[in-house]
Amino acid sequence: MKVLVANLGSTSFKYRLFDLGDPAEPVLARGAIDRIGSPASRVVFKTDRGESETSREVADHGDAVQICLDQLVDPEAGVLSDPSEVSAIGFKAVHARNLTGVHLVDEAVLQAMEAFNDVAPAHNPPYVKAMRGLRERFPSLPLVAAYETGFHRTIPEASQRYAIPDEWATRLGVRRWGFHGASHRYISWRIAELLGRKDLKVISCHLGGSSSLTAIRDGASVGCSLGMSPQSGLPHNNRVGDFDVFSLPVLLRETGQSLEQILDTLAERSGLQGICGKNDVRDVEAAATAGDVSAQLALDVFVASIRHYLGAYLLELGGADAIVFTGGIGENSSLIRSKTLADLGWFGIELDPALNAAGPAERRISAEGSRVQVWTVPTNEELVVARQSQELLKSGRSAMA
Ligand code: ADP
Repeated sequence: MKVLVANLGSTSFKYRLFDLGDPAEPVLARGAIDRIGSPASRVVFKTDRGESETSREVADHGDAVQICLDQLVDPEAGVLSDPSEVSAIGFKAVHARNLTGVHLVDEAVLQAMEAFNDVAPAHNPPYVKAMRGLRERFPSLPLVAAYETGFHRTIPEASQRYAIPDEWATRLGVRRWGFHGASHRYISWRIAELLGRKDLKVISCHLGGSSSLTAIRDGASVGCSLGMSPQSGLPHNNRVGDFDVFSLPVLLRETGQSLEQILDTLAERSGLQGICGKNDVRDVEAAATAGDVSAQLALDVFVASIRHYLGAYLLELGGADAIVFTGGIGENSSLIRSKTLADLGWFGIELDPALNAAGPAERRISAEGSRVQVWTVPTNEELVVARQSQELLKSGRSAMA
């Protein structure tokens, strides 16, 4: 089965085509179309047979998918003989009201996503718009939404609940949903392969544009730092992270701004950016090294929050077999890793400075005698979505957990 996994932005469409019929599950083609809606979109297409970059008008996401299908059957660089070989488009969907797992996209699914547009403002609106357009334009092509929240439904109820009136949790869906499920699920699979066993206690640290820690026991999530929305937990590059809602009356009163304006600041201009004005950790690290005090504070706040959740999950799991770093920061920042794991010898956690500093992308970075192994592992969220899409289609059902 061949599955196209799509990654949508409001004006971008990136994809990978997986051949899951081949045991090696190769990516047959990948591509990206950005500046959708402008007269000159950049269209990039890569296969083993060649790659191209062109500029053309792409009106909407439907156009983008049509261009992608045309390129896939291109006689020179293409990899398919007919577009119908694409069995489905899989989406790493973020959030929907009282709905999780993996779903064939229909109107009810779209409405459940729309109901949480304001909970995931950066993600849900562009996905709903694009999915609606694609359903109309390609009615016979199944669209599969694999929700980021699905992996976390094994978290014990006591850890999913906020201490709020019961009805808010049960009817309105206000609970710790957890996100980054595709990434943490991949890490749980991969670390089991690397260590050769499945009965593992793992703390997966996805540190990137948005960041989260997840505690995993025997392959199942038992805790995630992200809560009701992707704005919670650790500070993110420009989103707030954990925050006390009783700050809101003060902010509303003192700034004279509306609730929408305050929420927009918390979701767009807070996190690392809010503290120091820079949101890319490479820039924050460089500024801190050059003596910028607010950049140093931003790094310290980030690391303090990672250590806060790391401590909680070491206790939750009763120790750990492995701590895994992934995501743009987790994979690349030896500084954040070494600050996060400084002075944890008592917990059996010791980095090897040379291994931490450099090496292949996927590697052990803990010292030889460290009781807890520490790894960097590039995540592969698209493969998770492709496999989940295939599993749903093969089941013949419209939804699965
Ligand atoms: P997203 O979460 O948006 O998918 P990534 O996981 O690719 O993004 O992470 C992107 C972030 O990774 C960048 O914003 C930057 O902060 C960080 N990053 C990338 N490379 C490095 C590096 N070499 N050192 C430190 N941080 C890095």
